[in-house]
Amino acid sequence: MPTKDGIASTTRTDQIALVTGANKGIGFEIARQLASRGMTVYVGARDRGRGTAAAEKLQGEGLAARFIELDVLREETIRAAAVAIEAAHGRLDVLVNNAGIVDRGDGPPSRADLDAVRRTLLTNFVGPAAVAQAMLPLLRRSPAGRIVNVSSGLGSLAQNGDPEWPGAWAKFLGYNASKAALNMLTVQLAYELKDTPIKVNSADPGYTATDLNDNRGTQTVEEGAAEAVRLALLPADGPTGGYFSSAGPVPW
Ligand code: NDP
Repeated sequence: MPTKDGIASTTRTDQIALVTGANKGIGFEIARQLASRGMTVYVGARDRGRGTAAAEKLQGEGLAARFIELDVLREETIRAAAVAIEAAHGRLDVLVNNAGIVDRGDGPPSRADLDAVRRTLLTNFVGPAAVAQAMLPLLRRSPAGRIVNVSSGLGSLAQNGDPEWPGAWAKFLGYNASKAALNMLTVQLAYELKDTPIKVNSADPGYTATDLNDNRGTQTVEEGAAEAVRLALLPADGPTGGYFSSAGPVPW
């Protein structure tokens, strides 16, 4: 039955998801795939124009998508987003911390621009931590809360230290450290929440063609979104505190 905002009522229509950085790239595709399963998806974006356009594109496909302003560097937008979702639904079922940057000044430890390192840590690690803290009270009200932190294979200390790993050339001090730190958020938050239904996991999308890498990635956004979507939809007996790519667990 259609609701007052025209959203078709299906078995999962009452599930509420928030995806940060969802106006393009992998985040947009995660939003699309979650909404395709009947969820109401908040398309988090720092820019109103880009976010509204993305949400309208999904609405045009018949999906329940809504723009919400959320800049992970601006706490007032994070707080306002939590207040708005609480007012509309009283809870949140899925949080995907997807927003992230690569800074042009980043690079190997001997010469990375340290302001670029600071900016990257703030966006890719402190930002997601702030969003998780703000949304946690709402996720606690879900019968099956799920937090997915979109990490990277570059966040693996084990892979960074393995000269034979195919991604070993990619030594970006700020970016790789930010994703390792994000993995720490996953592990510690999962531990804190181990006696609750909430599951917290890191997803490694794999090298995906988006603006982040000037579309040099070798995967499609559908492939890049797949693991985060799987982790967002984990059943009650699924893992928590893990780090996964589509190929399986990633070494920390
Ligand atoms: P894109 O550059 O296409 O998208 C990044 C998104 O993050 C954009 O929506 C961007 O918004 C948003 N964003 C950046 N800064 C902020 C901020 N301060 N507040 C809110 N949103 C922000 O990159 P991808 O889709 O490739 O990246 C998505 C995630 O996947 C990132 O976390 C990235 O690190 C990770 N990842 C990507 C890989 C790849 O190969 N593409 C591989 C491994 C991990 P705006 O449009 O306004 O800039």
